[in-house]
Amino acid sequence: MDVAAVTATAPDAPLEKTTIRRRETGPADVLIEIEFAGICHSDIHHARSEWGSAEYPVTPGHEIVGLVREVGSEVTRHSVGDRVGVGCLVGACHECSSCEAGQEQECENGAVATYGSPLPEGHPEGTVTQGGYSTHIVVEERMVVSIPDGLDPAAAAPLLCAGITMFSPLRQWNVGPGMSVAVIGMGGLGHVGVQLAVAMGAEVTVLSQTTSKRDDSLRFGAVEHYATAGDEGRETLRGLRGTFDVILNTVSANLPVDRFLATLKPRGALVGIGIPTEPMSVRAGSLAAGRKILTGSMIGGIPETQEMLEFCARHGVTAEIEMIAADKINEAYDRVVNSDVRYRFVIDAKTF
Ligand code: ZN
Ligand code: ZN
Repeated sequence: MDVAAVTATAPDAPLEKTTIRRRETGPADVLIEIEFAGICHSDIHHARSEWGSAEYPVTPGHEIVGLVREVGSEVTRHSVGDRVGVGCLVGACHECSSCEAGQEQECENGAVATYGSPLPEGHPEGTVTQGGYSTHIVVEERMVVSIPDGLDPAAAAPLLCAGITMFSPLRQWNVGPGMSVAVIGMGGLGHVGVQLAVAMGAEVTVLSQTTSKRDDSLRFGAVEHYATAGDEGRETLRGLRGTFDVILNTVSANLPVDRFLATLKPRGALVGIGIPTEPMSVRAGSLAAGRKILTGSMIGGIPETQEMLEFCARHGVTAEIEMIAADKINEAYDRVVNSDVRYRFVIDAKTF
């Protein structure tokens, strides 16, 4: 079926309304009528081909919430009328050891991204997968999660990417009561990460360029919010030496990593979540002294995404959103790039 969508046609062209083709609902598929689609900074990088050669036209969107309208004959997990979500992945082999472990994002045979992933030749949907800025999507049921009743469906959309992106490393590093966690950057990722870490029982500190979002940090449950830019920020970081068990760095620009490593306790971990395009430099001594860990994390698997949604529903964790109509997407992109959103745009799918 042909469905309304908003698509990118070239790196420097504004996104525009169009129609895209969705495949017929196969035996293992569900057809979802999309209600809400979040705007992730990755959408912008991809639409503008800032991460390399995007294939056009491409419909972005990997924070999708909607209602099941049709199910294939073999579908068991979802029923018509259920509210469901789709995040960054729409396919994986389901057979390799990563998939068996519920880590589909690390599928050894290549996970399929929700948009921009190559499709086999002759596929009815075209040459690459097309994402959530559209009225409907067909996805294999194993890649679809359930949205718990307690979550606001619009505000749940960003959790499908931003939520799991923060939840997975917090779990990986066993964050819980008695631990001290820092979140670098208070944007779409950071504001969810602070709430999650607080809900897990940690003492949370926000490290940001400035103090402009200090009130929000405290409202989300952080105990402190420090500005880290400039000479004053350098002094602040010096004062925080040996403080944190885990630092989640959501910033996509290169930071003075050594200064932040110094704020870790021995054996603490600095987890890179934002992905700067330039290589980073780090002094070996910053890692050796105190056996510090410098690592990274990218999204998470389907079972953990489901667990994250249920955790958010239980603890009242949610994204703060600004709802927009489809004709405001280009404006919203510019505002995201300028960090002028608190904290995530969500598109009302009725306006596609
Ligand atoms: Zn994303
Ligand atoms: Zn696999």
